[in-house]
Amino acid sequence: MKDDTRLTHGFRGPDPVTGAISFPIFQSATFRHNGLNQSTGYDYSRAGNPTREELEKTMALLEQGEKCWAFASGMAAISTVFRLLTQGSHVLLSEDLYGGTHRLAEEIYTPNKIEFEYVDTSDTDSLYSFIRDNTSMIFIETPSNPMMRVTDIAKVREAIGKRDILLVVDNTFLSPYLQKPILFGADIVVHSGTKYLGGHNDILAGFVIAAREGLCEKLSRISMSEGAVLGAFDSWLMIRSLKTLSVRLERQEKNAREIADFLSGRPEVTHVYYVGLPGHPGYETNKKQAGGAGAMISFRLSSRDLAVHILENLRLIYFAESLGGVESLITYPIVQTHAETPDELKDRVGIDDCLLRLSVGIEDVTDLTEDLSQAICSFGKTKQGGVII
Ligand SMILES: *Cc1c(COP(=O)(O)O)cnc(C)c1O
Repeated sequence: MKDDTRLTHGFRGPDPVTGAISFPIFQSATFRHNGLNQSTGYDYSRAGNPTREELEKTMALLEQGEKCWAFASGMAAISTVFRLLTQGSHVLLSEDLYGGTHRLAEEIYTPNKIEFEYVDTSDTDSLYSFIRDNTSMIFIETPSNPMMRVTDIAKVREAIGKRDILLVVDNTFLSPYLQKPILFGADIVVHSGTKYLGGHNDILAGFVIAAREGLCEKLSRISMSEGAVLGAFDSWLMIRSLKTLSVRLERQEKNAREIADFLSGRPEVTHVYYVGLPGHPGYETNKKQAGGAGAMISFRLSSRDLAVHILENLRLIYFAESLGGVESLITYPIVQTHAETPDELKDRVGIDDCLLRLSVGIEDVTDLTEDLSQAICSFGKTKQGGVII
């Protein structure tokens, strides 16, 4: 079955008892037993809930993994994966990384004697030299946030060879509709479901997908013991969102391609980072491992003042943190997503006060380019009574 069909119908499809096309919301914390040792398969919703399970099974199929767990946020999902690490282990992460993942590693896990090292994972040839005897995980984002660096997943797998190192891929930026890291050798895929999967800027959610059986027992124990699971209603909203993932993403990518071309043609824009542009260094690699370029664009302006002016003068594109939704959002990484990333790391990857990150939505693309155009062109003009003259 193709992904579009799977997304629309879900794992089980209509409720077998009532025929309801929309999968029911089992808003129940606990489940009755008919007798001793006679569980229906559901006992208590922290361990398992039918609505959440329908979502998890759909996501496992989409990512072509063995099993999936749904969490209350992307960070809860990533923290569950970090729980697999033991004291004294060493982890390599993409240096261009979501700020929250960096904070979790440094503030919560480093004090537990786990060492995190941030490297350019897109340079797979150099990756070998960073692997140590105690390296137990490599955690990558591709494309990365916000510099859109592309890491060749299969080459990272090759670098790991027969070593006992888990390869984890944060697949938030492309979603399983465009990229399935397990097919290229990932052991675990994580998601912020808050972004493309939820797609409407209204749900916080996260996912962990394991590639094979051997990893499932431990992850199930962590999920059930810590209990940061997704509630039944949010699971249902997510099932509903997944039905339109393919059409949303196709429209978003189409819009993003036009906007990337528009920005590339503006003299005020000194660089456009979009993996769908043939000049992007990761263009070929992304094409090899993904079915599209997605709809995330970062771009650099000729000055900080212009960047701030654009943020403050866009009308349709909202200045807000987050991404992946139907509404276009613009972010200022240096003060928002990456505010807490150390300056040294920001300098190394190129996050400065001239850089903006745009998440392209499903609006009419002409309206979006016109909005960007008026925000750019009004720079330097004076305002009188709130009106640019
Ligand atoms: C947003 C995001 C996260 C964190 O997810 P939340 O749902 O906000 O907890 C992790 N990784 C990436 C790439 C993200 O964009």
